[in-house]
Amino acid sequence: MKKVAYGKQSISPDDIDAVVRALRAEKITQGPIVDSFEEAIAAKVGANFGVACNSATSGLYLAYRALGVGPGKLVWTTTNTFVATSNAALMCGAGIDFVDIDPQTWNISAEKLSEKLNEARQKNWPIPDVVTVVHFAGLPCELEEIRNLSLEFDFKIVEDASHALGASYKHTKIGDCTFSDVVVFSFHPVKMITTGEGGMLLTNSSQIAEKSRELANHGITRDSAKFKAKEAPSWYFEQLDLGMNLRITDFQSALGLSQLKRLDDFIEKRSEIAQSYEKSLDSNKYSFQFVKSDVISSRHLFVVCDRSRVERNALIERLSENGIYSTVHYIPVVQHPYYQEMGFRLENYPNTKKYYESAFSIPIYPDLKFAEVERVSKLLNG
Ligand SMILES: *Cc1c(COP(=O)(O)O)cnc(C)c1O
Repeated sequence: MKKVAYGKQSISPDDIDAVVRALRAEKITQGPIVDSFEEAIAAKVGANFGVACNSATSGLYLAYRALGVGPGKLVWTTTNTFVATSNAALMCGAGIDFVDIDPQTWNISAEKLSEKLNEARQKNWPIPDVVTVVHFAGLPCELEEIRNLSLEFDFKIVEDASHALGASYKHTKIGDCTFSDVVVFSFHPVKMITTGEGGMLLTNSSQIAEKSRELANHGITRDSAKFKAKEAPSWYFEQLDLGMNLRITDFQSALGLSQLKRLDDFIEKRSEIAQSYEKSLDSNKYSFQFVKSDVISSRHLFVVCDRSRVERNALIERLSENGIYSTVHYIPVVQHPYYQEMGFRLENYPNTKKYYESAFSIPIYPDLKFAEVERVSKLLNG
């Protein structure tokens, strides 16, 4: 029986040709295709600078470092995300805390964020230096409200847009940094486009772009204007900060460039699949993510909530017996043993707890057949 996953890549003959051509080039890493990929993504989303790296996890780490996140600093994010969002802040040596989700969009709740900020102010607790939002399943969160809070409480905003390449919010594209300091995309195979592994940080600040580029390359600069040395021969470079090798390759970038041409088609197909599920699934049994009319979701995931609240695991088993692999996005970050040991408790996030008890992600990806969509719906309507 053919297996159907919740998400997977779509690789065309043109994608393969692009990678093969890149492998025949003079440089297979640190070459011109990386630059072209950065320019193409930045142009597509309307940001000034793109810095490509080897994963979105690295992109988040670089974003935090470039924003000065480190020991003594504090990052807040949503409970409903992949652990990388908060792990990257911990890797910088910063503190972490979480904000509950909105019960309808399953995104970070601007209302809960506002409550938590006001409570912190009243009780003289630390205010976050950075708030990282996630556009869950490709649905943009309440960026304008959160931007207003950032002006009132003086924190920076990072958008973990791993799900949301191609999404838009009001009159803006996700990635253009209208409401944030840095946006990070993922190019993992289940995401909107793929480079195998890969990610990119977008920003309108030349300082953030330069700093993250330096940190992704061992903290080294070849820019003589920044050298401590007064005179420098052409071969000379200096390490100015502590970085790592977080670079992407040229052949991955070639795949990314080729995939980017297909992004609009990918999103169209994903939104057709989402509409088809919403029409065919029994709405007495299932609820869906609420999409406001002023946003466009990239439809990275299709999550349904089991209204009965007791059937979710059995439904996942029923699909699995039929070769269809659904899963849960996400096990709340605070529920993982590592975070439990830090003292976090799911009970303190009631909306997340309720969501987590009933949510599961069913297949959605560009090459999924409508016959499979119907089969999934039939199995779930039972
Ligand atoms: C996939 C994902 C990441 C990590 O992306 P990688 O490119 O695999 O490092 C981070 N945050 C979210 C919300 C994700 O979905």
